[in-house]
Amino acid sequence: MNITKNRVVSIEYTLRDDKNNLLDTTSGAEPLDYLHGFENIIPGLEKVLEGKSEGERFSVNIPAADAYGMRDERLIAEVPLENFNGAAEVKPGMQFHTRDSNGVRLITVTKVADNTVTIDGNHPLAGLDLVFDVTVAGIREASEEELLHGHVHGHDHDGCGCNGGGCGGCGTEGCCGS
Ligand SMILES: [Zn+2]
Repeated sequence: MNITKNRVVSIEYTLRDDKNNLLDTTSGAEPLDYLHGFENIIPGLEKVLEGKSEGERFSVNIPAADAYGMRDERLIAEVPLENFNGAAEVKPGMQFHTRDSNGVRLITVTKVADNTVTIDGNHPLAGLDLVFDVTVAGIREASEEELLHGHVHGHDHDGCGCNGGGCGGCGTEGCCGS
């Protein structure tokens, strides 16, 4: 079976930046399952996975533009500290999710001053050229429900069935408690 649209693909990967710093790996954890052809993963990786078969291993360099995009300085803002619940607890490096017109966005606190907090809405990996070592661990046909929702339903997510981040903002009725 080959990787093509409407199939669920399981990949094991190790992700490094172009200076060989380790950023993420599935080693020692579950492989990542995603629904191919639905932009569930970064475009550069989805493109090279197309047509691959189970057991294939490869290495690929993905420029930032095809990964998490370029950094956008407009996504950096200073907001009053008093806008935060538990203001005393706000520290650089903290992350939280907000919802905007593009769906769910991860915000990182980058600086805390006396009365203001600097927040950055760029993805932590934005602006980075990425190097992936990938093994295709499995391929299966997606279920009708998965195709309808546009993401994988993991076997270990009782009730909701959604695969964590894959469900972020899908808005499908009954999915992830919506
Ligand atoms: Zn779902």
